[in-house]
Amino acid sequence: MTNPLLAPWNGPVGLPPFAEVRVEHFAPAFAEAMREHLVELDAIAASPDAATFDNTIAAFDRAGRSLARIGALFGNLTSSETSPALQAVEREMAPLVAAHDSRVYNHAALFARIDALHAERDRIGLDGEQRRVLERFHLDFVRAGAKLAPAEQERHAVVMQRLAELTTRFGQNVLADENAFQLVLESEADLAGLPPFVRAAARQAAAERGIADGWVVTLSRSHIVPFLTFSERRDLREAAWRAWTRRGEHGGASDNRPVAAEILQLRLEQARLHGHASYACFALSDTMAQSQAAVTALLEQVWQPARARAEDEREALVAMARSRGENATIEPWDWRFYAEKVRQVRFELDEAEVKPYFPLESMVAAAFDCAARLFGISFVARPDIAVYHPDVQVYEVHGEAGAIGLFLHDNFARPTKRSGAWMSTYRLQSKNGGAGEAAVLPIVVNNNNFAKGAPGAPTLLSFDDARTLFHEFGHGLHGLLSNVRYERLSGTNVLRDFVELPSQLFEHWLEEPAVLKRHARHWQTGAPIPDALIERLQRARHFNQGFETVRYAASALVDMAVHARTTSEPVDVVAFERAELDRLGLPAGVGVNHRLVHFQHLFSGSAYAAGYYVYLWAEVLDADGYEAFVEAGDPFHPEVARRLARFIYSAGNSIEPGAAYRAFRGRAAGPEPMLRQRGLLEPVATS
Ligand SMILES: [Zn+2]
Repeated sequence: MTNPLLAPWNGPVGLPPFAEVRVEHFAPAFAEAMREHLVELDAIAASPDAATFDNTIAAFDRAGRSLARIGALFGNLTSSETSPALQAVEREMAPLVAAHDSRVYNHAALFARIDALHAERDRIGLDGEQRRVLERFHLDFVRAGAKLAPAEQERHAVVMQRLAELTTRFGQNVLADENAFQLVLESEADLAGLPPFVRAAARQAAAERGIADGWVVTLSRSHIVPFLTFSERRDLREAAWRAWTRRGEHGGASDNRPVAAEILQLRLEQARLHGHASYACFALSDTMAQSQAAVTALLEQVWQPARARAEDEREALVAMARSRGENATIEPWDWRFYAEKVRQVRFELDEAEVKPYFPLESMVAAAFDCAARLFGISFVARPDIAVYHPDVQVYEVHGEAGAIGLFLHDNFARPTKRSGAWMSTYRLQSKNGGAGEAAVLPIVVNNNNFAKGAPGAPTLLSFDDARTLFHEFGHGLHGLLSNVRYERLSGTNVLRDFVELPSQLFEHWLEEPAVLKRHARHWQTGAPIPDALIERLQRARHFNQGFETVRYAASALVDMAVHARTTSEPVDVVAFERAELDRLGLPAGVGVNHRLVHFQHLFSGSAYAAGYYVYLWAEVLDADGYEAFVEAGDPFHPEVARRLARFIYSAGNSIEPGAAYRAFRGRAAGPEPMLRQRGLLEPVATS
């Protein structure tokens, strides 16, 4: 019996053979691909020739492609279309893949060659990208323990395997708790306050769960946030809020408290092996920020003004509640509800009035159109290509000289998909094939969790949903426009406090009136969004920014604090979080929805651990960067767009990120545009 994962993938642009792959194919395919990878590395290390860039660095970058494509498929399926059987394989594979990684990065003979080249890097005639990939690989090896003594290396490998197990379990526990909860609404009284689009989404969710006569609110963000915003039923809002914020804390098999505590202990041990006092210190040493002091300084710049703003916002909510003869204490499950009421009065802005102008299809067209005008690329639908779920749209992406990649758009929430929104890849762009091999084109996927409209009705997005769509699409462009030689430097393989720049920057085009006039059209009448509504949307942009900024900054500060611990005593994450929020002075009624027990950014992997600040760090860059277009007087200014493509969206990690930004902008970024963008430079509004 042949394993389709190990056979050549002859689908379009090298897509996986989705239809033939079975769960039981993964474990043997991983085993074989890992074996092949080690054979490739042994061959590089055993070469009788002296180490050269080509026979060592370029060869290492080319090695393991079979493992990479199997791993990418597996990672994408476990995130977007999982099953109990696939989850079992995931738990089995996580430590094995981590052990493989340790074998790769502790390959002494291979590292000796890389280390020798690294020592000689100024004298061996490398161009900029070659030097960058050599330095990057060297650092990858060092950070994975290549320079540790043998006994420490062994312990390091054990720690990494256990971390892989635990982070896998953490994510599975969150999904289990999300799927275990559904708020069933049975009567008109239960639906009080919900506008038609929320009812339609709840009806659809009920149908998907086999409930013929009712409405269901799930813990998916695009269900829960509208419910908390509109439901007149304070008791139901409280029940929904409590379920949402207690994911991972229910005890039993899906309890994430001990999982998070052990992850933190092991991360501290990992950091200590590398000679760092804390995990935050270790993690930040490979970022633009470099130090905890730099991160804290940035967060503190927004913390005080945002907190003051949130206190004012709460006063307005209290006044609104009183005017309705309702409770004067604003609880976390009340904030969005009264904020929406204040917003409707102050800006005459009603979500239910806005959403008909934001059908999903139109917003996808808007994102494609902006990419076309900025970067000269086009998206051609390929409905003939079936992938892993019928809801996924497939597009071939064309540049001036033909196809540049494939784009998968997976927009709807479903129980088999983890919550949130993210970009991922099936294959990274590179031009480091063997002799005569063509360039490798990227295959990029965007995942969202929009509540699907009822059959026959469009899926209508909120303005925030549309922003999320543009955000993920910006990451997608970072992968699709990548134009580098080495896979290690490709696309989003950049430092993590740079990676949110292309995504957050792209959100700015959604707010351009010209883009809205063209694409935000009423789904029934086709009429473009009225100027007055655009104006009201823009005036409302700073509304509730105290609440949003405080919630975000609190989560980022708790992340930093919990990863800055220097004692290896197991931590009670719930008590730690409460104490830290008290110390910070989180304004009453705000409430955080990224609690440590379900904070997947921090614990479903390590990419954002001690790294939740990166959104704000990148916001300094995106706010400053977009002003280049404002200064040029044209949101699609060809020369600014050309520099943006060259130094940001296409450059991957081939240029040091600070230098890349300065090459695009002509200077470094300052924080004022970010503060202005959040409305935190202005005096507090009183009306
Ligand atoms: Zn992002």
